[in-house]
Amino acid sequence: VILGVVLVNAVIGFVQEDRALKAIEALSDMAAPTARVVRGGERRLIGAEELVPGDIVLLAAGDKVPADMRLLHTRELQVDEAILTGESVPVPKSTDALAPETELAERANMAWATTLVTRGAGRGIVTATGHATQVGRISELLSATEALDTPLTAKIARFSQLLLYIILAMAGVTFIAGLAQGASWQSMFIASVALAVGAIPEGLPAAVTITLAIGVARMARRGAIIRKLPAVETLGSTTVICSDKTGTLTRNEMTVQALWAGGAHFSLTGVGYRPEGRLLLGDRAVEASAFPALRELLTAGLLCNEAELVCANGTWRIEGDPTEGALIVAARKAGLDLRVIESAHPRLDTIPFESELQYMASLHALAGGPCEGAQREEPGAGPASRAYIKGSLEALLPHCTAMLDSAGRPVPIAKARILAEAETFAAQGLRVLAFARADFPGIKPAITPDDVARGLVFLGLTGMIDPPREEAREAVRACKSAGIEVKMITGDHAGTAAAVARALGLRGDAEAEGSGPPDIVTGPELAARSAPEVADLVARSAVFARIVPEQKLRLVEALQAGGEIVAMTGDGVNDAPALRRADIGIAMGRAGTDVTKEAADMVLTDDNFATIVAAVEEGRGVFDNLVKFITWTLPTNIGEGLVIMVAVLAGATLPILPVQILWINMTTAVLLGLMLAFEPKEPGIMTRPPRAPKAPLLSGALIFRIFSVGVLLLAGAFGLFEATMARGASVEEARTVALNVFVTGQAFYLLNCRSLSRSMLTVGVFSNRWVLGGIALMMMLQLLITYWPVMQVLFHTAPIGANDWLAIVGWGLVIYTVIGLEKWVRRRVQARRTPTRQAGSRSLNGA
Ligand code: ADP
Ligand code: MG
Repeated sequence: VILGVVLVNAVIGFVQEDRALKAIEALSDMAAPTARVVRGGERRLIGAEELVPGDIVLLAAGDKVPADMRLLHTRELQVDEAILTGESVPVPKSTDALAPETELAERANMAWATTLVTRGAGRGIVTATGHATQVGRISELLSATEALDTPLTAKIARFSQLLLYIILAMAGVTFIAGLAQGASWQSMFIASVALAVGAIPEGLPAAVTITLAIGVARMARRGAIIRKLPAVETLGSTTVICSDKTGTLTRNEMTVQALWAGGAHFSLTGVGYRPEGRLLLGDRAVEASAFPALRELLTAGLLCNEAELVCANGTWRIEGDPTEGALIVAARKAGLDLRVIESAHPRLDTIPFESELQYMASLHALAGGPCEGAQREEPGAGPASRAYIKGSLEALLPHCTAMLDSAGRPVPIAKARILAEAETFAAQGLRVLAFARADFPGIKPAITPDDVARGLVFLGLTGMIDPPREEAREAVRACKSAGIEVKMITGDHAGTAAAVARALGLRGDAEAEGSGPPDIVTGPELAARSAPEVADLVARSAVFARIVPEQKLRLVEALQAGGEIVAMTGDGVNDAPALRRADIGIAMGRAGTDVTKEAADMVLTDDNFATIVAAVEEGRGVFDNLVKFITWTLPTNIGEGLVIMVAVLAGATLPILPVQILWINMTTAVLLGLMLAFEPKEPGIMTRPPRAPKAPLLSGALIFRIFSVGVLLLAGAFGLFEATMARGASVEEARTVALNVFVTGQAFYLLNCRSLSRSMLTVGVFSNRWVLGGIALMMMLQLLITYWPVMQVLFHTAPIGANDWLAIVGWGLVIYTVIGLEKWVRRRVQARRTPTRQAGSRSLNGA
C-alpha cells in the first residue's frame, strides 16, 4: 500500500507540476511575437504566425526576426545571431548577392528567424516560416523548457534534503532503541518506516509549485505575464520600482496643443486622434497657409514620420509611435494634405528614431514643385534634397545656425529665445519636440548622422500633452504605503518630467524635506558624477530626465549597491541590459520590442504602471500563502514523528500505523493545505514594508507555533489512543481514533492558518469557500476510512462511536482555541510595541 500510495503521489505530483508549467508557458505565449508587413501596399501589424513566404517584412532595432528572409534593403542593420550561430557579436547585414555555397553564418543578405535586431532598420522578403526556417530545423533543441525553479523552491529542496537525513537518523535511533528494549525487529522496522513516512512532508513540493502557479495565473489576470518564475517571489521583496514615463505612467495618447513657429504662438483644439480641430493664433482661428514658418514646421512633422493615422469603425487610432501620430493629427487639423506633400517630397532615406540619438531625420527630393519653389534658396539651381529632422531640442539646437522668420525666410538664430520658449512648454507638462531642416545640392542618395550635425535651419517647436494615467496616481500612493519607492526614468525634458511627476504625486526625499540637491537629476548631470555621487543622487531623487538607456544600467547598479531590490521597466532595444541586471526586468507588452521582452522577467500586457503594483501585491500574497501552507503542514509531521518516537521509547503499542500516517499526509495536504493557496490577500498587504529577501522563511514566532501544534497533536493522538485502549477497545479502534485526531486537528488548525496574525473571524468565515469545501470533503473521506469495510481492511481501521467523535472534535477545538489565543496575544504585544507605526516606514525594512 505504501509503495502504491507513493507511486500515485509521484504521478499526481508530476501531472500537477506539468500542468502548472503548461499553464505558465501558455501565459507567456500571450506575449507572442508580431511582424510589420507591407501587404497590398499598406503597412500592417500581424501575428508572426500569419506570415507566408513572399511577405515583405519591415525590421527595426529591437525586433525579433519573425521568419527567414532575404534582405531587400538595409540601413546600418545589425543582428544578434547568437541563438543560431553562437556568435555573440552582432553581425552587420547587407543586400549584396553572395555565392550559393556561402555558409549560414556568412550569409549577410539573409535575416534568420528568432535572431534579434540590435541596430538599424531593414526590409526583407520572407523565404521560409515556421519549421522550414533554419532555426525550425533545430527547434527541438530550443523547445526544452525551463525548470520550475525559484530561490524559494531551491531553499525548500535543500531543507527537504536536510530533513530527510535528520529523519533517517531519527528512524535509525528509534529502531536501535526499540531493539535494545527487547522489541522484535519486525515491529521496529514498521515503527521506523512509520516515523520516516510521517515526518517527511510529502505534499510540500507539489503545494509550492501549485501555489506559485496560482499566483502566476492571478498576475496574468491583472495584466502581468511572468516569464521567469522566480519573479513571483522577488516581486514581494521589491523596494524600488524604476518606471518609464511615457506610456507607463502616462497614457501615451499624444495631442499637439501648442506650436511655436516664426516667432508666433499657435494652438490647436480638439482631443484624441480625431483630426478635427481648429488652429488658433491667440484666440483667433487662422489658416496655416498664411504662415509659411508654421507650414514648414507641420510639413516637417508629416514627412519625418513613420506612423500612420487610421480610422476604423469611426474610431481614430495610430499605427506606430503616438508622438509621431500626434504630428499627423496636428497637420490635418491645420489643413495640410499628406498626399500632396508626400508626392512633392519623395522620400530618399531616413535615420530612424533611437533614444540614444533623440532625433529622427528623413531625406527628401525637392522636385521643385510649385508649392515649395518659394522656399528654395536658389531658385532654378536644379534638383535638390532636403532633410527634415525632429527630436529633442538638446539634440537639435547645437547644430542649428539659422531659424525661419514669420515669412519663412532664414534669419540668424536666437538660441536663448528658443530655449526660453521650450522651458515654458515643458513647465506646462508639455512634451517638447524641436524641428529643423537642412538642404543639400543635387539628389543625395543617403543620409548619415554627420549630415545633420551642422548647418541646420531651426523651424519651430511643438508641445504635446500626454495625460498621466489616472490609476498611476493611485498606484504611486499604494507604493508609498507599501514602503516601495517609485522613480521615474525618462528620456524626456526635465521640465516636462517635473510637471508629470507633480501630477502623479512623485517627489524625492530631498524635496519632501525641503533640503538637499534638486529633485530632478538629468542624464548629462549623471554622466559627470562619480559612482558614489551617483549612488547618493539615486537614493535621494525620484525623477531622472534626459536619461539615455545606457544610464539605466548605471542607475540599477547604483540602487542595488545600496541594497535595494529593483524593478525596472523598459521598451527599447538598449534597455535590455538594464532589464537583465534589474532584480525584476519589466517589458512593455505593447510598446516594447521583442528584445526587451526576451530579457524581461515580466511583461505588462497593458504597459501600465498600476499593473506592476498589482503584481507586487499578488507577489506578496503568493508568499504569504506559501508561508501559511508550510506553517500548516509541518506540525502534522512533527506530531506524527513524535508519536512514533514516544511510543517506541515508552515501549507502548504504536498509536498509528505507517499506512495511516501516509493517508493523513497525502489526503490532508491536497484537501486541506492546498486550499490556503486560494486565500484572498490580507487587507494590510500593501501597507507593510517589503520582505527582506534574506529573511528566513519562518519567523521565530511561527516556528514556536509549529512546534506547539505538533505537541498538541501528539498529546491528543497519544492521549485519546491510550484512553480508548484503557476502556477495553480494540487496538484498531484506538488507532482509528488517533488517526481522526490528526485529521480533525489539522482541519481546525487550517482555520487558524488562513491568516498568520488575524483571527478567522476577522478574515471572514466564508471568505474562502475552498477551505470549507476541503474540510467537508476531508470529513467525508474520514467517514469512509472509518466505516467502509474495504478501507478498514486496507488501512487497519475499525468503526468508532459517537463519544469518540466528541472527544476528537473537542480536541480539535482545543487546538483552534489555543492557537487563536496565541495569535491574539501576539497581536496585543505587536500593537503595544508599535503604537504609532508609520505605514511602510523604511526603518522596519529588514528589521
Ligand atoms: P521617453 O519615452 O521617456 O519619453 P524617449 O527616449 O522616447 O523618452 O524620448 C526622448 C526624447 O526624444 C523626447 O523627449 C523627444 O524630444 C524625442 N523623441 C521622442 N520620440 C521621438 C520621435 N519619434 N522622433 C523624434 N524625436 C523623438
Ligand atoms: Mg519613448
